[in-house]
Amino acid sequence: MTKDPVTIVEVGLRDGLQILDRVMPTADKLRWLEAEHRAGVNRFEAASFVPPRLLPQMADAAEVVAGARALPGVIIHTLAPNLKGAMAALAAGSDVLVLPLSASEAHSRANIRKTREESVEELARVCRARDERAREGGCQTRIDAGISTAFGCTIQGEVPEDEVVRLAEACLEAGADRVALADTVGYADPAQVRRLYRRVKEIAGDRLQSAHFHDTRGLGLANCLAVLDIGIREFDASLGGLGGCPHAPGASGNVATEDLAFMLEAMGFDTGIDLDRLIEAQRLLATLLPGQTLHGKIAAAGLPKHFHRSPVHA
Ligand code: ZN
Repeated sequence: MTKDPVTIVEVGLRDGLQILDRVMPTADKLRWLEAEHRAGVNRFEAASFVPPRLLPQMADAAEVVAGARALPGVIIHTLAPNLKGAMAALAAGSDVLVLPLSASEAHSRANIRKTREESVEELARVCRARDERAREGGCQTRIDAGISTAFGCTIQGEVPEDEVVRLAEACLEAGADRVALADTVGYADPAQVRRLYRRVKEIAGDRLQSAHFHDTRGLGLANCLAVLDIGIREFDASLGGLGGCPHAPGASGNVATEDLAFMLEAMGFDTGIDLDRLIEAQRLLATLLPGQTLHGKIAAAGLPKHFHRSPVHA
């Protein structure tokens, strides 16, 4: 019996590192990438193309992408908030470009300094620029609209579901290849994610395939499970649950890659990941960030004695 494949995208190098006060040296980022790649992870959201003065942690974005490209079979996702960043991300060689848009009008104005309509217009410009590059012989980078604060926002609280659905529709009309919903602040619950994913799937079909959940309030894996049940097969996660929330000091970041991989493999899904090697990568990350709290469970607890290890696909 062939196992149902599930893809995990390691986003710790972007979502995890961007929130830390310290800057991880490029060489350490590449050691992290290599260790996870050895464990069978082959999709990385490797960097964010933003001005270094705003996010010094991402100043080496192009170098990290170049380093990641040297690893066989790696697919590189990057994030860019605007056309300028997107052009740099395309030039660096991104396979997937994520453009974040806020579902919450208040969060959009505060964080991206744009209304949602202005963000959609920027997305359309990025899609046109991508198409232009492709016509000139550049690669056809996939563009994902990452809808953040889709399940609630620390500024305005509730984000009406109708507004999320309308924004997803607008992103697809603007030329995005895919939309993804993100629970940026860890407000979502399983019933809510299943309901909203179903609604967006009605308009997006298989252009909605991935999920981005934070474990801020401990519901990260439960939320993954809720959308796994309705056919979602691509999940963002960060090694050691690295990251956090600027509004909740000490809170955990994205769902931990190793815990998510353990849950999926234990359930019989095929992640292509060797868990022993993934836990080794988590231990390496701990040494690269001394004093940093990591949040996953499985690295500390160890795998169950009878756990069936699936060999990494060479
Ligand atoms: Zn996030």
